[in-house]
Amino acid sequence: MNELAFIKSRVKSCTFCDTILIAKDLILIWIKFRDEKMETQTKENQSKLTPQEIKQLLIEGNQRFASGKMMERDLLEQVKVTSVGQYPHTIVLGCIDSRATTEQIFDQGIGDVFNARVAGNIVNEDVLGSLEYACKVAGSKLVMVLGHTKCGAVTSACHGVKLGHISNLLAKINPAIEKAKLNFKDITTPEAVNEVGKENVLNSMKEIRERSPILYALERKGKIKIIGGMYDVQTGLVEFYIGA
Ligand SMILES: [Zn+2]
Repeated sequence: MNELAFIKSRVKSCTFCDTILIAKDLILIWIKFRDEKMETQTKENQSKLTPQEIKQLLIEGNQRFASGKMMERDLLEQVKVTSVGQYPHTIVLGCIDSRATTEQIFDQGIGDVFNARVAGNIVNEDVLGSLEYACKVAGSKLVMVLGHTKCGAVTSACHGVKLGHISNLLAKINPAIEKAKLNFKDITTPEAVNEVGKENVLNSMKEIRERSPILYALERKGKIKIIGGMYDVQTGLVEFYIGA
């Protein structure tokens, strides 16, 4: 028996030592969680972060979410801290889908992100106003257009659904359908629908740049970044579009 094995056998035989060791482990775990607890977004933090660093925060947050290792947060404490002001680093233009909830899938807390949510994450005047407010007025530095797989709005658009106010909304997805038709004969298959979803994200990014001189100028100056991605409702992972 080597030295380490001998020590372990002695420690195992002693209840008092076991208790001490368990207590030590618990303290170490507590210290780890205490140190890993996410801080609430402050004005100072918001001004220091670069768009690239913020993108990395979202990538890492999504990895934590998809692996079930989300950060510990005191949400009530964050309510108190943010009650006097909010300094979100990002605005996400996402779908209304109940499975694509920004704070959860990016493991963010209260006061970290603005959300502009509309079926099919399309762009309209009010969405543009919301994005401009977030970036120009409130200091956010990242605009993320987030589509998702199995999107009901995109699927409905691919099937040519016409119904009340939904018709006008779905018409905004048509440019993405036209692009996807170049690669898919049948636009209603699950693969084609997901391709339309991706094209729709890229189209929304293009619309933001074309229709908002404010956001376009901020991006040209490097003060913000407009990015896109697709959330997979089966894996919990977000695919970030490189260079998009
Ligand atoms: Zn959707």
